[in-house]
Amino acid sequence: MLTKELYNQYKNEALKYLEKAHIAVTDEEIEKLEVAEYELGCLDKIGLELVVYVNTEKCCAKELVLLPNQTCPEHRHPSVDGKDGKEETFRCRYGKVYLYVEGEKNCDISDKIPEGFDGCFTCAHEVVLNPGEQYTIMPNTLHWFKAGDEGAVVSEFSTKSMDEFDIYTDKRIDPAGKRNI
Ligand code: ZN
Repeated sequence: MLTKELYNQYKNEALKYLEKAHIAVTDEEIEKLEVAEYELGCLDKIGLELVVYVNTEKCCAKELVLLPNQTCPEHRHPSVDGKDGKEETFRCRYGKVYLYVEGEKNCDISDKIPEGFDGCFTCAHEVVLNPGEQYTIMPNTLHWFKAGDEGAVVSEFSTKSMDEFDIYTDKRIDPAGKRNI
């Protein structure tokens, strides 16, 4: 459970990374900074921190912070009411991001999967993003990602976010319960 203390701890840590990435945010954005813990109770392994800049019918922009080795769980953005799911572009601003998408296996993910989460991560096509590098994920494509030892800051540009329709590989995660990216 995300207690107030835990929320503040992770929020304060995330703010340090935004500063390292030289990304300015307003007091109002700091106030609304989200800590996604997916109700799994292991934020040090699974979770992320985010600032949502805009989310309209047509576009969405967010800043994502991953603390060292923090992992965003595998998910996809399906079509909703006949409209394509979310298309998203991740651009690394700070640190290193290990992104995994559907496609030909090109790596061994066993050392990247958080302990105790075997079976919750299936994509093994790795794309490594360093600062200034980006990758676009098409709608309904399974993906997950993880920061390296230094943590990471990632800008996300996408079509509309409809978190409640996201589909997770780990069925313990309730998409209506927590923000996702
Ligand atoms: Zn996503």
